Amino acid sequence: MSEQQQFDVVVIGAGPAGYHAAIRAAQLGLKTACIDAALGKDGKPALGGTCLRVGCIPSKALLDSSRQFWNMGHLFDQHGISFDKPAIDVKKMVARKDGIVKQFTGGIAALFKANKVTPFYGFGQLQPGNVVKVKQHDGSEVELKAANVIIAAGSDSIELPFAKFGEHIIDNVGALDLQDVPKRLGVIGAGVIGLELGSVWNRLGSQVTILEGLPNFLAAADAEVGKVAAREFKKQGLDIKLGCKVSGTEVKKDGVHVAYTDDKGAAQEIVVDKLLVAVGRRAATKGLLADGTGVQLNERGQVVVDEHCHTGVDGVWAVGDCVRGPMLAHKGFEEGIAVAELIAGLPGHVNFDTIPWVIYTEPEIAWVGKTEEQLKAEGIPYKAGSFPFAAVGRAVAMAEPAGFVKVLAHAETDTILGMHLVGANVSELVHEGVLAMEFKGSADDLARICHAHPSLSEAVHDAAMAVHKRSIHKAN
Ligand SMILES: Cc1cc2nc3c(=O)[nH]c(=O)nc-3n(C[C@H](O)[C@H](O)[C@H](O)COP(=O)(O)OP(=O)(O)OC[C@H]3O[C@@H](n4cnc5c(N)ncnc54)[C@H](O)[C@@H]3O)c2cc1C
Repeated sequence: MSEQQQFDVVVIGAGPAGYHAAIRAAQLGLKTACIDAALGKDGKPALGGTCLRVGCIPSKALLDSSRQFWNMGHLFDQHGISFDKPAIDVKKMVARKDGIVKQFTGGIAALFKANKVTPFYGFGQLQPGNVVKVKQHDGSEVELKAANVIIAAGSDSIELPFAKFGEHIIDNVGALDLQDVPKRLGVIGAGVIGLELGSVWNRLGSQVTILEGLPNFLAAADAEVGKVAAREFKKQGLDIKLGCKVSGTEVKKDGVHVAYTDDKGAAQEIVVDKLLVAVGRRAATKGLLADGTGVQLNERGQVVVDEHCHTGVDGVWAVGDCVRGPMLAHKGFEEGIAVAELIAGLPGHVNFDTIPWVIYTEPEIAWVGKTEEQLKAEGIPYKAGSFPFAAVGRAVAMAEPAGFVKVLAHAETDTILGMHLVGANVSELVHEGVLAMEFKGSADDLARICHAHPSLSEAVHDAAMAVHKRSIHKAN
């Protein structure tokens, strides 16, 4: 029999959802443990989940490095800056990324220590009766018993049966760790991960072809935003082919042969040096539940929960990528905090209507709330106001005039229903929309708030004014 330890809260998974839940629970005076199975590149335990190890943070590190490199060749000249041919040391760039990952995963360990969260390093399996059995990396087993267990197991990349991961066919983990620029990079899936990682290697010189199954580009985004983004990506040399169904791959001497049918139903093939499969992620719930726990998985392998992230089994909760809803780190943050607060008897809550979406391409894409297409489909009367960055002094001074901000407000109440942005730094600007919507603000409220000049936020201000045809800096 393995040793049993008692806690108030046991969290399975130390990704964004799990570590937020654990730290908040500990802050609220609950004796908390958090289990994580992941190892870093150095083979040592690494907390922080997909986000810190192989997701949000490392991808942004490479996006930033590659953006600097791209700007040297494409933007600096406008500023009158010249230099000899730019060069990139990919190994150094990737080592910088690894350093950032180490800093942040180590940061979670330090936060656990500071907040008195007890970490366990190994694989956790929920047993009936709120017991979690942990197989630790050293081979030993420990049992943790708690009044409340929070499942935060996250997600893994989906592997296609005809494109098994290996040296040449890779997922996000491989694409974040290439040691040279592949001459030809194929990407299956023009979603967030495909576009961001495709952009990184395109900027560094890869010839990138993205094969997307859907007929529309960025179907989840507002259609106008998708149109501007597609135009800008094309200018950058990203070859995005829509309506393509990939049917097979074969690794040969000259590269990976990718067979697909195009949007007209014709058989096609591309040959690439590396193939990134970015067709989505699946809840990491394999082996998580012993028989008899009562916790249900749906047909997608996600843990079934109600609107409060409760599984229906007394004291068992689930948060983050392993449950329904968008697979976003900040959605997991909020769910983790809300559940810890509910356990402590506080009113925890996540507002799904104001979760921002961001794609960190160039230009960046961001939105919150409903798109015009959704409002039309739902028969909600609305007014739209938009403003281009080309008319914003700061954006032009930065030589980043592409894109616009669009504010959608209810035609009768003026309440903001959505904000859609494409352009420089919109990953930050979207929070004006989030804040306004969270406070049930109107387009008029936003239009009457003083915005600093010159700043990119003036596009938000003028777009809000444009809802009532009183934009100052463009014809209404
Ligand atoms: C390339 C890439 C870029 C991304 N960029 C962004 C971005 O910019 N912004 C954004 O919001 N989101 C982004 N995401 C998505 C984001 O990473 C996820 O939404 C987020 O990490 C989910 O958090 P989580 O805590 O639910 O799960 P995870 O981060 O997946 O963490 C789960 C943890 O649980 C551990 N675990 C699982 N099962 C067990 C078990 N049984 N026992 C012990 N440990 C277990 C895993 O090892 C893992 O460490 C990106 C993802 C990828 C792949």
